[in-house]
Amino acid sequence: SETLTVDELAAKLNKDASEIIKKLMFLGVMATKNQDLDDDAVELICDEFGVQVEKEIILEDTDFDKYREEDDEANLIERPAVVTIMGHVDHGKTTLLDAIRQAKVREGEAGGITQHIGAYQVENDGKKLTFLDTPGHAAFTSMRSRGAQVTDIAVLVVAADDGVMPQTVEAINHAKAAEVPIIVAVNKMDKEGANPDRVMQELTEYELIPEDWGGSTIFVNMSAVKHEGIDNLLEMLILVSEMEELKANPKANAFGTVIEAELDKGKGPVATLLVQNGTLNKSDSIVVGSTFGRVRAMVNDEGKRVQSAEPSTPVEVTGLNDVPQAGDQFLVFSDEKKARQVGEARQQKHIQETRSETTKVSVDDLFEQI
Ligand code: GDP
Ligand code: MG
Repeated sequence: SETLTVDELAAKLNKDASEIIKKLMFLGVMATKNQDLDDDAVELICDEFGVQVEKEIILEDTDFDKYREEDDEANLIERPAVVTIMGHVDHGKTTLLDAIRQAKVREGEAGGITQHIGAYQVENDGKKLTFLDTPGHAAFTSMRSRGAQVTDIAVLVVAADDGVMPQTVEAINHAKAAEVPIIVAVNKMDKEGANPDRVMQELTEYELIPEDWGGSTIFVNMSAVKHEGIDNLLEMLILVSEMEELKANPKANAFGTVIEAELDKGKGPVATLLVQNGTLNKSDSIVVGSTFGRVRAMVNDEGKRVQSAEPSTPVEVTGLNDVPQAGDQFLVFSDEKKARQVGEARQQKHIQETRSETTKVSVDDLFEQI
């Protein structure tokens, strides 16, 4: 790459060459006036003199697509569907998520305390499903605004005693925009005044038409508080996921999306990642949004430490340098150095995008003026 001599850099910084040489000595480098300095040395010296150097970022270097390899068809295997629960406030989303979790905690941990990591997996007849435990609307809006799509199937919860409400319509719009299939869960069937026919009638206006009426939308009547209809809903979800033919390559470097993240006093940055392709392993070098690091520890939705996470699996990871944002994407790199480079470039890009006024000189400017 380009170089500057000590003399040239001194001229640019309006300093005497001897001052530069002194600084270099301080940094453990013996140099003469005509010594060539590389980018890193130039930056270090500038830093010593309080001059900020803006590193030039090659835009494509920050683009994950550049580093993702095409998956060999032969490596693709079936993966569990990722399900988001949506619907109007108080129609029973949280109650349903809890009911499913309680009904289907995996064998061996019955009664165990499940950890909240923003998503969980259940097993039904040997088939897994992944549920996003974050509010459906948020999952769609914040993630989609960042270009991430994590949901494969949307469950639209509609209270049988209340019918279609404004957020019901919003949810339908989100799911349709994402081209995600919708299963309607007609909830609160136990309540007096429950009127599932009215719900069906109202939803025809949004092209959600039950099979009995000549449409293709699956409707499941249920009661989340009474734990009724849960198995049927899960069966329908499995059915739809099979029709979707969801595939992933477990041999690839892991790629996916941040479900949620926070700073933990003891553990540092903690992020729940949904692996969408590849397998995430402990010690992997990973770039997440505009930060990076190495996966120090991974905990699954049961609160157990795991060594790896396959496609559609949510895991909580530690080891990142900073807290990413929900909806950020992540990618694992085989080469730790490359991960650092890409991570730093994305970090730099993020800083530049968020900083309004700039008081920096670019390395290019420094070189050009000679
Ligand atoms: P969310 O806002 O959609 O997450 O709704 P919640 O799950 O918080 O439920 C709102 C209220 O409806 C709570 O008081 C629940 O106990 C109640 N609820 C949820 N599901 C049912 C149901 O199937 N039957 C009855 N009777 N009440 C329900
Ligand atoms: Mg809720």
